[in-house]
Amino acid sequence: ARKLLMIPGPIEFEPAVLQAMGMATTSHVAPNFIEIFGNSLELMREVWKSPKGQPFIVAGTGTLGMDMAAANLIEAGDNVLVISSGYFGKRFKDILDRYGANTTLLEAPVGEVVSHDTIENELKTKQYKALTITHVDTSTGIIVDPKPIALLAKKYNTLSIVDGVCSVAGEALHQDEWGLDVVLTASQKAIGVPPGLALLMVSEKAMQVWKNRKTPIPNYYSDWTNWLPIMRAYEERKPSYFGTPAVNLIVALQTSLKIICTEGMEQRVKRHQSFATAFRAALVSINLTILPKTDTIAANTLTAVYYPEGIDGAAMNTKMSVSNVIIAGGLLPDIKASYFRIGHMGSVSANDLLAVLGALERALSELGHSFEIGKSLQTFQMEILKTN
Ligand code: PMP
Repeated sequence: ARKLLMIPGPIEFEPAVLQAMGMATTSHVAPNFIEIFGNSLELMREVWKSPKGQPFIVAGTGTLGMDMAAANLIEAGDNVLVISSGYFGKRFKDILDRYGANTTLLEAPVGEVVSHDTIENELKTKQYKALTITHVDTSTGIIVDPKPIALLAKKYNTLSIVDGVCSVAGEALHQDEWGLDVVLTASQKAIGVPPGLALLMVSEKAMQVWKNRKTPIPNYYSDWTNWLPIMRAYEERKPSYFGTPAVNLIVALQTSLKIICTEGMEQRVKRHQSFATAFRAALVSINLTILPKTDTIAANTLTAVYYPEGIDGAAMNTKMSVSNVIIAGGLLPDIKASYFRIGHMGSVSANDLLAVLGALERALSELGHSFEIGKSLQTFQMEILKTN
């Protein structure tokens, strides 16, 4: 039977997106492809709400997006503040350290976010070149509101770099209005395209900082000097070449961005919010505990949940897989085995989440967890009816 992929990326993709990927591969300088690439860059500005931003589409994963931000904007010795609410916050520190940044890590306790006071107090201690925020940390299901942190960054003349791998096209984002300098993501999550593309949007201010850097960029592939002329050429509908673009993935990207813009970002964010809210309520109603300590810091693109006391997590996941629902285990090294994660982003529907809850209830019941059968499905339905 067909398995429903409910991990936090890669996700279930729209059939039209997968069909687009299967089109005959054209030259990367064929007129039809130049139009598709150019239009994808334009559509990115709509999704990021960044009419003034400089978009980049490069073959690679989300980690490449992080690497590009670090390689291009940070010089050895620069102070960078890393604000972390999970595994991917720390990855940003590792990447920045490779480029010789002088990093300070502010790490929230599991299930919490770093307070604005803590961030501001740290920004007061020295001149930071940049700070990094993980918008949604996929390891904990925690969302950080980038808007007030961007205001702090502005106050202390610091660039704001956002890892939006698990948020862009699923969570509220207004890059220009909020004053975010870099917002990067990857194709395989809420953008709704199979893995293989890094997508970045860079503010005018950050491009200026990049232009004014004093030392050469110590990374060939990530260097925007190579990619900026390519992005400009595609937007001007002119042929160009640096590294061969992932032609089929970009055809799929345009298809998905069109679907996203047709739904509209406001409606899309609302849909993610109502599903996530109903899903969390459903889980709580069958005596499960959500990893984020409060509802206000729980992401709308995925949910991290503790296994109930005494339940064998691996056995639960296997039972769910037998029920044709694929979920993800934990990712935070210290507590990996104690929780699981469910992705609900992109073209996810209420049907998908009801399928997850059904399979979850059967698995938990068989493993001896005590709750009222059907309760989570009922709770989910009631919550969805409330928001409709
Ligand atoms: N940041 C976040 C928040 C992520 O969720 C991920 C992927 N799970 C990454 C960065 C890294 O992306 P990739 O696996 O595509 O390199």
